[in-house]
Amino acid sequence: MNKDYQHILLATDFSPFSKHAARRAMKLASYCDETRLTFIHVIDEDYYDEFGSVFSGLATGGGFTNQQDVLLKEAQDQMLHFTNKLDANDVQTKVVKGIPRKTIMTFAKTHHIDLIVMGAHGRHGLARLLGSTTNNVMNYSQCDVLAVYMRNV
Ligand code: AMP
Repeated sequence: MNKDYQHILLATDFSPFSKHAARRAMKLASYCDETRLTFIHVIDEDYYDEFGSVFSGLATGGGFTNQQDVLLKEAQDQMLHFTNKLDANDVQTKVVKGIPRKTIMTFAKTHHIDLIVMGAHGRHGLARLLGSTTNNVMNYSQCDVLAVYMRNV
């Protein structure tokens, strides 16, 4: 018997590849009323920490002390834009700081995700057969993973 997925996680870097993957995830979620769908974006912690220290180095009088909050807000706005463009009204969203591949898998484990949907490629484009984040998640995830290819790019 074929059991529907209960909770699907779509990982997005906001690239066209992950937008395409999001459409596929929404389609899969639509097959069952009870299926929940969450979109996650991970702010790369290396970038986040570097960004914070560069700006705190420049700070005089505390003007740049909240740059990491600015980065977080920017990512939250991007997520809102991403879901609006897709008309994704019934999804939960999560924007967190971390190492993307690890954070996606930890989130999946702690939230009982049974399917992770990702773009086969991301912001780094088509240089590899499979993007490194997706490759890693496919190798180490403890649940199903769907890598969505985008043709004609
Ligand atoms: P990449 O491995 O960077 O080429 O990206 C491949 C796919 O991994 C993307 O299409 C997204 O689905 C996912 N991904 C990459 N980076 C992130 C991130 N920072 N947060 C969430 N998902 C991501």
